[in-house]
Amino acid sequence: MNDYEITDWGRILLGDLPGQFLLEVTIRTVLMFAVIFIGMRATGKRAVRQLSIMELVLIVGLGSAAGDPMFYNDVGLLPALVVFIVVILVYRSLTRLAAKSIKMEKLIEGESFLIVENGEFTIDSFNKEDLGQDEFFMEMRIKNVEHLGQIRKAYLETNGQVSIFFYEDEDVRPGLPLLPELFRQRSRTITRTATYACTFCGNVKDLSPQEGFHVCPKCSRSTWVSALSSRRVK
Ligand SMILES: [Zn+2]
Repeated sequence: MNDYEITDWGRILLGDLPGQFLLEVTIRTVLMFAVIFIGMRATGKRAVRQLSIMELVLIVGLGSAAGDPMFYNDVGLLPALVVFIVVILVYRSLTRLAAKSIKMEKLIEGESFLIVENGEFTIDSFNKEDLGQDEFFMEMRIKNVEHLGQIRKAYLETNGQVSIFFYEDEDVRPGLPLLPELFRQRSRTITRTATYACTFCGNVKDLSPQEGFHVCPKCSRSTWVSALSSRRVK
């Protein structure tokens, strides 16, 4: 560090390698690109939209092995190739195991989870802390759902997506609004007689003004918001 200079642009741009190394980086990158591409094809996946935990582990494993040999002059390509082969073999054997046994599948991929049934959140979903309500509301809105009463069943899938099964128009019931500007009008005090939805569990009740709070019979909370009963626009 004797002749250290902060404005040493040669060192900043190239490190202590000769300019030719950039050509080697190009060759290394092309080769690793081919390895990554062949590797991803070998996983048997067709495309990646949202990742299950397993796939995330796969990508992280491959990703960290893929980058280094592209630009570190002292890292060879073969160790990365071995990492690729091993990670993909492990991934493929685990997915094969998951396909053979339901128990293994639950262990490896997780389980899809019923979160809405008959226009209300399921009791089980209350305890599911990792299911953020905001995030879930967003998922629903992206699928053009205005309120929970339109939903017969919804599942949180293992890849993080939500699948929704709707009521027929004539069966749509009043439900918890998912639109932020309506949801924000929630209150613990009921000022007029109307149909309300519990903001926590989606339980729907006709309420009238009274002394004290209305306690939700399903989840024992007491914040309410006017229920919506609009049908879906198709
Ligand atoms: Zn409730």
